[in-house]
Amino acid sequence: MKLILLGAPGAGKGTVAKLLTAVDGSVQISTGDILRGAVQAGTELGKKADAFMKAGDLVPDDLIMGIMEQRLQEPDCANGFLLDGFPRTIPQAEALKELLDRIGVKLDMAVNLDVPREVILDRLTTRRTCSNPECQAIYNVKSNPPKVEGVCDKCGSPVIQREDETEEAISKRLETYNEKTAPLAAYYEKEGLLMNVNATSSDVVVQTIKDKLGI
Ligand code: ADP
Ligand code: ZN
Repeated sequence: MKLILLGAPGAGKGTVAKLLTAVDGSVQISTGDILRGAVQAGTELGKKADAFMKAGDLVPDDLIMGIMEQRLQEPDCANGFLLDGFPRTIPQAEALKELLDRIGVKLDMAVNLDVPREVILDRLTTRRTCSNPECQAIYNVKSNPPKVEGVCDKCGSPVIQREDETEEAISKRLETYNEKTAPLAAYYEKEGLLMNVNATSSDVVVQTIKDKLGI
């Protein structure tokens, strides 16, 4: 399947993407994971992205398009991909359309995960992430804690609160989302690709997507 996952920070795009990879082997492409990996590895890209991310601001479109132009042409994308956290602005959506046309790839749909704001705030402040850039497993101190406190079940690395998950950075991310990313729903509606789903349960979201695609 070739999907875009839209939704506020904390809507569950990453969780849904991971569940969907198990359905048909489509790959999850998270620009947030790629950027955090680059920051930790200290690459040129990471150095450029770091300050924007810490502040809860968007990384400039040209850097993001550079990443995606390469990533979408890697061989593992041929089976399908789940775009998680991209596109995030109208210019990114327009550039993606041009890129996909150029490489001859057609999207199935853009799925908009709809979650009430209280749920989002609660999820973001209680979310914890594995610090190993190769793993980045997601936990929640209330609903899904690691078996041993502070230690990743999958790889044993420390589980931490992301630097952009302080209250201040979270409100900034939500503000940025409302201003820059929320308009993408209307964009994909016009393209005839939008599906809105109530996303309080990730399993229900996955089933709804499978039903819609007939798989
Ligand atoms: P979340 O969806 O929880 O906000 P992500 O992991 O998707 O978190 O993104 C973390 C940060 O990485 C964002 O706040 C932003 O700074 C940067 N980022 C990720 N994807 C993009 C993108 N497509 N365009 C611009 N910045 C991005
Ligand atoms: Zn881990």
